[in-house]
Amino acid sequence: MPDARTDVAIVGGGLSGLALGRALSARGTEVLVLEASDRPGGVTWTEAREGRLLELGPQRIRPSGAVGELVEELGLGDELLLSPGELPLFVYRDGCLGEVPLSARALLRTELLSTAGKLRLLAEPLTRGALPGETVAHYLTRKLGREAYENLVGPLYGGLYGSNPSEMLVEASLGHVLRRFGVGRSLGLAVLGLARRRGRVPPPATFREGMAALPRSMARALGDRVRLQARVTALARENGGWRVTIGGGSAPAWAVRADRVAVTVPAPEAAPLLREVAPEVARHIGALTYNRLVVVHLLADRVLPGLGCQVSLAERDLATRGLTWNAPAFGPDPEAPKREREARAAREGVYTAFLGGAGREEVADLEEEAAAGLATDEFARITGEPARPILVSRVWMPAWDRTWKGAGALDLPRGLTVCAAWSERPGIPGRLSQAARLAERLAPAAP
Ligand SMILES: Cc1cc2nc3c(=O)[nH]c(=O)nc-3n(C[C@H](O)[C@H](O)[C@H](O)COP(=O)(O)OP(=O)(O)OC[C@H]3O[C@@H](n4cnc5c(N)ncnc54)[C@H](O)[C@@H]3O)c2cc1C
Repeated sequence: MPDARTDVAIVGGGLSGLALGRALSARGTEVLVLEASDRPGGVTWTEAREGRLLELGPQRIRPSGAVGELVEELGLGDELLLSPGELPLFVYRDGCLGEVPLSARALLRTELLSTAGKLRLLAEPLTRGALPGETVAHYLTRKLGREAYENLVGPLYGGLYGSNPSEMLVEASLGHVLRRFGVGRSLGLAVLGLARRRGRVPPPATFREGMAALPRSMARALGDRVRLQARVTALARENGGWRVTIGGGSAPAWAVRADRVAVTVPAPEAAPLLREVAPEVARHIGALTYNRLVVVHLLADRVLPGLGCQVSLAERDLATRGLTWNAPAFGPDPEAPKREREARAAREGVYTAFLGGAGREEVADLEEEAAAGLATDEFARITGEPARPILVSRVWMPAWDRTWKGAGALDLPRGLTVCAAWSERPGIPGRLSQAARLAERLAPAAP
């Protein structure tokens, strides 16, 4: 590959790198997105197996705000498969699946809390806001009581990261969410307000060809500004700019010269790249914990009604943290328009199990067959239904635990910047908004 030159070299072609590439290109800045693998998208990807479409990372999006705008800009509006309205979410506890209550009335009736647990919630507005150095587990237990923590908010929040809320600091994780939603003292009232607003946002959605349609379409729009099989192996300063080395070892190396470099890859992969040029930052991010999860796709005959379930933190002997029930939202629907029917058939009977993470680290080391067996057994225990595994894959997620303590502005050399899931909100809306803000900073719009 001949050497190349660009304004901004972007390391990594997941959603962060692609979103930054789009945002900078829209401002007339030349970019090259350098992606190590032979496809764009990173963790946001879909695999086909046995006539089914299986999501390896995010299972769905809500096409509102920046995500909705991106879908429209890419012309993917017609490709959306929408869930038929809001479906319930469950928590597994003590042999039962209890529906997550999303209104004051449902909270009164829920079987996930005892009468004492419900009464304890009434004290919440009297408790203090987050304390300095407090963990998420301590904060939620102090505010809501142990039952509501273990059976409701703990699994719902910790499940997002595969993390243990006892190891997550409010200031480094939940604090961002509390500030964004203007939660001061009363968490309970804010949550009920959010639940009321839920009906006003679009229902969960995916694309006919699965979530991979999003990065695929972003990469297609960027054309030859995305280079696949381009693993960045070194960053070095050169003549006031940067030299980005790609390949090396058994593959022939080539280089991109750039005025600026944006690193978007996971922290464990970013740390070695920064070791020479920003040793302090490399040390800090090299110590960030990632949770390793095993994702097992299962096929079952029965369609359980809902979006899925999380597992109560009190169920300590289960390796499963949560299950997505893919079929009720995006599966067969005789009422669906004809062009949707095939896409919906590709989700028939599909369930996605997430196992391992903090506290169950050994699960990530299981051989494929053992992981599949464990997921199948625990699926039967949680849902009461038999299933069979069709795909085992592995992902890692930033834990947002104590190792993020004190994470603030990174002291990077001039011309080097970061736009990554470990540096700001890790979800898809967070990735898009960080990319948009960074593009504005790197290439301000003409006044
Ligand atoms: C299982 C799972 C479920 C999720 N569910 C949701 C959800 O429901 N809703 C939501 O909003 N978010 C969800 N997320 C989070 C969201 O999907 C991710 O935060 C986001 O996709 C991360 O994108 P990224 O580009 O930052 O990182 P990644 O997707 O990890 O992409 C990084 C890319 O960099 C490449 N790379 C690595 N090293 C190099 C190198 N040296 N040179 C070049 N390229 C390199 C990798 O190959 C990869 O393509 C989920 C994440 C996971 C893992």
